[in-house]
Amino acid sequence: MADELRPETRAVHLPQPSLSGSRPIAVPIYQTSGFAFDDPAVFAEGMGRPDGPFVYGRLSNPTVRSLEEAVAGLEGGVGAVAAASGMGAVNSVLLGLLKPGDHLIAQRALYGGTAVMLADLSRRFGIEVSHVPEDDPEALRAALRPGTRLLYLETIANPMTQVADLPGMCAAAREAGLISVVDNTFASPVLCRPLEHGADIVIHSATKYLSGHADVLGGVAVFASPELHRRVWRFAVELGATADPFAAWLTLRGIQTLPLRMERHCLNTRELALRLDNHPAVAAVHWPGLPSHPSHALARRLLPDFGGVFSFDLVGGRAAGERFMSSIRLALLAPSLGGVETLVLHPATTSHRSLTPEDLARHGIGEGTVRMAVGVEHIEDIWADVARALS
Ligand SMILES: *Cc1c(COP(=O)(O)O)cnc(C)c1O
Repeated sequence: MADELRPETRAVHLPQPSLSGSRPIAVPIYQTSGFAFDDPAVFAEGMGRPDGPFVYGRLSNPTVRSLEEAVAGLEGGVGAVAAASGMGAVNSVLLGLLKPGDHLIAQRALYGGTAVMLADLSRRFGIEVSHVPEDDPEALRAALRPGTRLLYLETIANPMTQVADLPGMCAAAREAGLISVVDNTFASPVLCRPLEHGADIVIHSATKYLSGHADVLGGVAVFASPELHRRVWRFAVELGATADPFAAWLTLRGIQTLPLRMERHCLNTRELALRLDNHPAVAAVHWPGLPSHPSHALARRLLPDFGGVFSFDLVGGRAAGERFMSSIRLALLAPSLGGVETLVLHPATTSHRSLTPEDLARHGIGEGTVRMAVGVEHIEDIWADVARALS
């Protein structure tokens, strides 16, 4: 047939090479919005399930599915939904599973975007929210109501790095018939696999450690059961929150070095935390690897290492915090975390500026608190920068 085609038609119908006998080493970017079928029955089948044949990019895409299977594999889940951002994953899970009149229980210290979203859920969507400490199953039991449906935790919280009692909290949630959701962004599956501790759903901002290079936004939700997977997938497809193949491809590329990077993030952070803990300009260091941290005992039971984010309080309060921020050179003054570069920020004036002074105090965040997301540079270069900024 091709021989008879006119130029206009030939230009439109491009040849698709068949790979006879070899296959690509890297996962290709399937930059296509849709898929064509030889068999109409297969076409129909792809519309109804997250693991079916590829039909249309908002439902699924081979590059995106490779990412979903990679993260599901790392977390030990049965399936995953990749989203356009971490918040896309958070919203797909919460809005996909809850309805007006439902009640959810979340830990107090939450990622800022999630805290804003939960406030919105109660204000605009009639979904009530209660907050409890991340390590208090009794408080969780006391907060239960007839309409309670879901528990929301973060493995390691920002910026004071409290560690959630995943086994205790998820067990209490299971007894009460709740779905347990854990944001595992700060730990990554290298340090923690929440499904093994009783969680039903794990969420990642893939923008952070999974992709690891500060060049892409993405999110992933991983499921312990095919039923939850199907429900959230269906809603993410409705919402249009699903991931783009190029973003998925960048994230896949990052994941290949995730364990190597996490090892260095943790090593560098340990060294910085220990040195700062002994520095005269520093009043306190908050990292669960230090015996002085309130979560230390729990963290030692739950995690093989303690992550690449920590914070510290400067002796000189706000003025010292601002001086530190303007003196740092190698580390970048920037939001986010999980990339190869070391980043610093001042929570009281940036990530947590919407909190009242009382709320800041309740979270333990001071005027002189600095948060560092430690990169993979040479430790002595990071230290030289920090020590200079402190002096
Ligand atoms: C960044 C982050 C999110 C939101 O992810 P985005 O990719 O920015 O939408 C959610 N949870 C945690 C813990 C985060 O650090």
